Amino acid sequence: MTEQAYIPYGRQAISDEDIATVVSVLKSDWLTTGPNINAFEEVFAAQCGVGYAVAVNSGTAALHCAMYAINLQPGDEVILPSMTFAATSNSVLYQGGTPVFVDVLEGNLLIDPEQVLQAITPQTKAVVAVDYAGHPCDYDALRAICDQHNLVLISDACHAVGGSYNGRPVGSLADLSTFSFHPVKHMTTGEGGMITTENEEYAQRMRTFRNHGITTDHRQRAENGSWYYEMVDLGYNYRITDFQCALGQSQLTKLPLWVSQRQEIASQYDVFFANYSGLTPLQKLGNVQHAYHLYVVRADSIQQRDLYFEGLRNQNVGVNLHYIPVHMHPFYKNNKQRIKQEKLTNTEAAYSSILTLPIYPDMLTGNSAHEVITRIQNIK
Ligand SMILES: *Cc1c(COP(=O)(O)O)cnc(C)c1O
Repeated sequence: MTEQAYIPYGRQAISDEDIATVVSVLKSDWLTTGPNINAFEEVFAAQCGVGYAVAVNSGTAALHCAMYAINLQPGDEVILPSMTFAATSNSVLYQGGTPVFVDVLEGNLLIDPEQVLQAITPQTKAVVAVDYAGHPCDYDALRAICDQHNLVLISDACHAVGGSYNGRPVGSLADLSTFSFHPVKHMTTGEGGMITTENEEYAQRMRTFRNHGITTDHRQRAENGSWYYEMVDLGYNYRITDFQCALGQSQLTKLPLWVSQRQEIASQYDVFFANYSGLTPLQKLGNVQHAYHLYVVRADSIQQRDLYFEGLRNQNVGVNLHYIPVHMHPFYKNNKQRIKQEKLTNTEAAYSSILTLPIYPDMLTGNSAHEVITRIQNIK
């Protein structure tokens, strides 16, 4: 038998233009804190239809900045799903807050607004909606709850850049939205992240926080010829470089195409799964543009899931599992006093049945979705 070509679950696309633009910045005066930071922030904010975007060096830093922006204090509670990457919840702990895990909806694994409502206490400060797999959450329902209880709505949109909900772009759906530019995401800067907001005060706080808590940056001081600066709060070095932001701008021009290509691959899978009984894709609602960071299917049992997982890995398909629920990680199990959790029935059931299939734009060229489908059919 010939070796089957390896199909990873995700993969970046870097063009010669991307490389040329990075090289040109490397030859310029500013490697970091230069003009490309603002330029990237401006085009990103425009694409999301919001007033402000703040670029940082990871999606995790973006989440930490958001928690700082809202002035999260020890004792404050933040309601969020456990079906997410650990960074969503870690960012609450970084600021001394208490993550409160609530269950997700069975059909699409998005935070259940009903469960959010039930978890609200006088200590609740914010809700984090995770657009799991790239499907925007029910932002109308979440907005109504947050307005009624005076809570901040944060969107962890790391899976959903380029998506939309009721015709409104992801990035404009919450008080703060966070993004990641890790290579496995839709667009990349190597490592990188962004926060979008309509709130000028939040934006200013985050710009200070990403730069050690210092109010002016290196370039501003160079421009006004002053050496004086003030550190006004305890911040971090979460700065992203100029060459990364040049790459980000170049990648962003292709985002709409890439999202439509991801949707096309998803529809190839959808057509197959409509007449296949072993695996079922997650539900997709009609009022969203799904960004398809992930294409997630469910098996009938953990045994079936493991069978497909191993069967596909054995055939060189890089299937994956997103996610081990955050509350089930050893750190969270060993620090129960630092968190709160409601009943997570759907979350834990999903963990036993989900499987992530490959999805990335270049799959179209090689007709790779059909190749994945063929290999699924080989499993008996
Ligand atoms: C990728 C991701 C993050 C973290 O982003 P990094 O850039 O890797 O730090 C946070 N939340 C979610 C949902 C993610 O998918």
